[in-house]
Amino acid sequence: MSEYRIAKKGRACAVCAREFRVGEDFVSAIFPLPEGSEEGSFERKDACPGCLAGIGREPFSRWVTRLPAEKDRSPVLDLSLAQDFLVRLVHEGSPERRSLMHILALLLLRKRKVKLIAQRHEGELPVLDLIVRTAEGEVPISVPAVMPADEERAGLESELGRLFGLSAGPVERG
Ligand SMILES: [Zn+2]
Repeated sequence: MSEYRIAKKGRACAVCAREFRVGEDFVSAIFPLPEGSEEGSFERKDACPGCLAGIGREPFSRWVTRLPAEKDRSPVLDLSLAQDFLVRLVHEGSPERRSLMHILALLLLRKRKVKLIAQRHEGELPVLDLIVRTAEGEVPISVPAVMPADEERAGLESELGRLFGLSAGPVERG
């Protein structure tokens, strides 16, 4: 939670600790956390392009970004990073990440960053066919559409809020 609050004020390089200036390019990257980690499944780290390798781990997903000028008004939304992350999750195709893919797809649908093409079934499994709008063009993906139980869903939404500034609603907690 604290990471999310810091991100509202400003962001700094995870390696050299320098704060990024408005308009300056930096890399936002998502790294897997060890299994059973209290913080969730993934963490986000920001770094200067030249510092990224200094983190010493290979990112699962990364995106070059910059701070918007109006950063104090609202939390920074990392929608491009979130889209890249979704595409990578789908390509990884890990069954234990099905719920995460589904919740992330729903949040991006609300932000109009993915487009719903079809709802269908693959055998027993409900699936959403989506188009992700990325800088490189439109990427077609299929996301398993199994809604997790409320508690798991709240945890996933909270994790996505922490990683990308995405919010499903007022879920501020201690
Ligand atoms: Zn740096």
